[in-house]
Amino acid sequence: MADHGASVYDHFYRCLTVQHVLQHIRRYALSNAYISRGEKKTRGPHFKKEEDCWHIFLDSLSILCDHKTGGQTVTSIAAELDHGNNGKRTFWILVNRQHPESETALRASDHLNGLMERLHQSARGVQANEQLMFESFYDSVSKARNRVNNYRKKLQGRIAALKDRATGLSPEEILLIEKIDTLVDENKTVCTLCKKAYEFRSTGHARKLAERARKDPTDEWKHVCHFIGRLGAWLKASLFLFENASCFADILSNYEVKIVPIGDYTRFSTPQPMWDLQRLLLHTLPTHFDVSKARLEHLFGQGAWNVANSLLEECEATGWRLKTHAEASMAHFFFVEDRHFVNEDRYIGCSKPSCMCCELYLEALSGKFAQRPRSGNAWIQWRLPGPSPSTSASANAIMQRMADRLQRDIEIELISASKGHVFTHDSSTNMSSVLGRSSMHHQ
Ligand SMILES: [Zn+2]
Repeated sequence: MADHGASVYDHFYRCLTVQHVLQHIRRYALSNAYISRGEKKTRGPHFKKEEDCWHIFLDSLSILCDHKTGGQTVTSIAAELDHGNNGKRTFWILVNRQHPESETALRASDHLNGLMERLHQSARGVQANEQLMFESFYDSVSKARNRVNNYRKKLQGRIAALKDRATGLSPEEILLIEKIDTLVDENKTVCTLCKKAYEFRSTGHARKLAERARKDPTDEWKHVCHFIGRLGAWLKASLFLFENASCFADILSNYEVKIVPIGDYTRFSTPQPMWDLQRLLLHTLPTHFDVSKARLEHLFGQGAWNVANSLLEECEATGWRLKTHAEASMAHFFFVEDRHFVNEDRYIGCSKPSCMCCELYLEALSGKFAQRPRSGNAWIQWRLPGPSPSTSASANAIMQRMADRLQRDIEIELISASKGHVFTHDSSTNMSSVLGRSSMHHQ
């Protein structure tokens, strides 16, 4: 039965854990062709074109300022219009889990300053655009050397796994693997690898790769697509920024860069451990819900129960290590200090699409933040920015709103195995978003 007497805090983490489990067993069901893949939500038609351009502009800046090895950091950038400071635009930067005075935060902010200066020059037309663009690209990639090499290694690992496939490969797949092998082998420096990975995305091979990724139930080809996409992201972001800098000449003419001075260091209490699947489901959902093994396996296929239990065992072994996410901390900073966004466009830029909780948090803050691209993944270690819900009534209310949404979605899923989100890369950059896009050096 649903444990209504328990704290909102514990209930939130139970709902989040159930969401985490559901995402994994959906993936299991997919790999057995038990359910069909739902449509992944990306930037929808509700985005107005000019707003979309500014949003991608902020996301692109965030991508170029995120330097650490993949997965270690996420960078968020948002622009404030400071009425009291001659209308100066302040570009606030925040690197998650990094103290505002840490070397990583200072390095990211220095880099943002350098990029802004070049973009300002580009918007004024004082120097050749292409030269400024390539300088920014090389500078960004060189600073993210470890990150690039990490993606290179992961891509090589996925290619090796495909070669070892027991089912064998078609001649077309063998050719595709050869092409990707060549791409990685012939481009030893990080800059050439990233440049060639970007160029690869407009070839016929990339279209074939995207087709394989769509059809492959094991996701192995999708991972390959993802890592090539990641490697190409630096040039994609640099091109976008310099192609569009002139649209924001006004904003770029009077700016400053600042590091968000707050950090989320208050220790939150550890949520109540609940790693037994049956207990977890019984305590999360109302009594009339059938949460038996038979029901779950009816929805997700035979074996789903064991898959879910194994996942919970892994969660238990890891334990709780709650961490704030960059875009949620940035939204909290703008919200509590009632800061004004440039052009009243309440968008928080980030180097990654947002997870399920960050998306819900931005909605729950009632600050009417603009919608961000989403990965939709349910990370159970997500932590609310700001004060603990145990000491703050407003934080507690936000958690309640988020828990209600999480629970409602779980109930819908358990009634009708919806075509929900499948747990995947947090930073998925499907190549489709860049295919066919013009670029500066092709003009
Ligand atoms: Zn998040």
